[in-house]
Amino acid sequence: MNHENGSISINTENIFPIIKKWLYSEKDIFIRELVSNASDAISKLKKLSAIGEAEIESDAKYRIKVIVDKENKTIQIDDNGIGMTEEEVKKYINQIAFSGAKDFVEKYKDKADEAQIIGHFGLGFYSAFMVSEKVQIDTLSFQKDAEAVRWTSSGGTEYEMDKSDRNERGTKITLFIAEDSVEFLEVYKVREILQKYFSFLQFEIYLEDANEKKKEADKKEDIKDNENKEETDVKEEEPKPLNDTNPLWLKNPKDCTDEEYKEFYKKVFFDFNEPLFWIHLNMDYPFNLKGILYFPKLKHEFETMEGQIKLFYNQVFVADNIKEVIPEFLMLLKGALDCPDLPLNVSRSFLQNDGYVNKISSHITKKVADKLISIFEKERETYNKYWDDINPFVKYGCIKESKFSEKVKDVIIYKTIKGEYVTLKDYLERNKSKHENKVFYVSDEKQQAQYIRMFKENDMEAVILTSMIDNHFMQHIEMNEKDVKFQRIDSDISESMKETQADDSNLKEISEDLEKIFKENLGNDKLTIKVEALKTSSVPGIMLLSEQSRRMQEMSKMFGGMNLGGMYPQEETLVLNTNNSLIKSILNIKERPDKKDDAKIICEHIYDLAMMSHKQLEPEAMTNFIERSNKILSRLVEDE
Ligand code: ADP
Repeated sequence: MNHENGSISINTENIFPIIKKWLYSEKDIFIRELVSNASDAISKLKKLSAIGEAEIESDAKYRIKVIVDKENKTIQIDDNGIGMTEEEVKKYINQIAFSGAKDFVEKYKDKADEAQIIGHFGLGFYSAFMVSEKVQIDTLSFQKDAEAVRWTSSGGTEYEMDKSDRNERGTKITLFIAEDSVEFLEVYKVREILQKYFSFLQFEIYLEDANEKKKEADKKEDIKDNENKEETDVKEEEPKPLNDTNPLWLKNPKDCTDEEYKEFYKKVFFDFNEPLFWIHLNMDYPFNLKGILYFPKLKHEFETMEGQIKLFYNQVFVADNIKEVIPEFLMLLKGALDCPDLPLNVSRSFLQNDGYVNKISSHITKKVADKLISIFEKERETYNKYWDDINPFVKYGCIKESKFSEKVKDVIIYKTIKGEYVTLKDYLERNKSKHENKVFYVSDEKQQAQYIRMFKENDMEAVILTSMIDNHFMQHIEMNEKDVKFQRIDSDISESMKETQADDSNLKEISEDLEKIFKENLGNDKLTIKVEALKTSSVPGIMLLSEQSRRMQEMSKMFGGMNLGGMYPQEETLVLNTNNSLIKSILNIKERPDKKDDAKIICEHIYDLAMMSHKQLEPEAMTNFIERSNKILSRLVEDE
């Protein structure tokens, strides 16, 4: 070819500022774009060969080489794909507005099955200039008798075209790295970027350090000079590609072992805990979706789930947790999804409304629900074991996605205070006679220990709902399951905790007496007092907090911590147990002036102890409680 100088037909004044902005936030994209182009070039060649339009040696070993040369300040990306003729360079490189890939797809889309054109990321080849002061292309087309072409440009609109000495099919892009981008001349940095985007690219990628290579070659030369035969015979190690060209998600699930799934999980998510279980998505029709979703094990009880869903487009990493594509609740899981049909060249806001994206979402949601149902039905014991780890995810999913909620509602289980796992239906069924459609729950096992003990003593059942999501989840269930009401274990006394045969002939009188004594001694006229004969005799008094007013208070706290306490006063009821000996004795000493102090101490202490089972005492109340406790202890030794 003849030497040619020319001018690129793009308005660089417009395009470069845009590219620069992009690069500012995602500095590594030039590598993603250029390696994608290289991979694209190989795909195209394979495709042509498949339809008989290119003659390629049968044992062709496709590969991409990335060569970093810090000394000479260059990075090269070298592929043995389709290459370009002079005409093609003019067309595809010089007329950037002309999308080569589009052209290619149009031309060949019906001729071969695997229409895999990567690289619809938008920026393309010109991102090379954001880190380079000069870019050089050396390319040789696969076509017979093609001549190698060299194209160089220094970033403006000017370019030069000439003969190239390239004698291998394919394209080599040489970036002469600019002063402000020398950080990319670090091999580790380039490796990091390649691993991020191309760990699962379908063609092998080799990363070479030109300076290392040169050093090694020099060393060998030296050894040769010294005629040290033994060492020169040492075999050179085969270079290893840095990617896995056949990721597990592409394999048929039937051919994958548990070990392989676990191995893949560790490698991709750097999580050394084993996943609980996984779902292998493998769909060709009506859309293409492959991937593996893992249910991670929570490391400790209070850990909030934090997942990571890696989105791939034809084995090229796109981004983590793209909320426009993946239902939000699934992001609590870990997984890799390859969606080659995704229209990634459109904007994210468009994705949100895209029918295909909706289909992906509902497909995944359905698969996840099916998996949960299948484990519940076939391996109930295992399902129970998983529950502590998976329940935040399932509950969150129910709240966020009504379709998911509808599907899994019968496999939601509750852990009871006896350590059993029951469904809501089971729970309601077996407790119907005791408390109809109320579900008693524990929100804090330590704080509510006294109530738990009482429940157990009375052979009653409460469920444990202690995770952060549970408040919302209960509301969700109450909204969806008619008549079901959740009540915290300390909000009410069930009939079955009271003595049925209580002799209440003089209960009314006793109640009035007790109410008077307590109100007086506590100096609290507004306190609601209830007197009951409880089956448990060991407890003198318990405090009940109205479920409704407690929930209101909690909610007002959540909304900006406004002090709406006055608006929703805490409705407390002190229940006094006439079967308890302390309560009995208080009635006995009520007329004795010498026991006045004792009566006060007892009332105050019963009140504080009952309160403590709900919440920590306020500082002042706590100080009084401690002082009083000391007084009581001293009394014990007073008579000695
Ligand atoms: P896109 O890849 O989105 O079409 P690019 O600007 O990245 O846009 O590339 C423009 C065109 O240049 C490509 O479509 C392709 O035809 C050609 N091209 C780029 N890199 C290569 C390469 N390594 N081998 C062959 N052709 C290439």
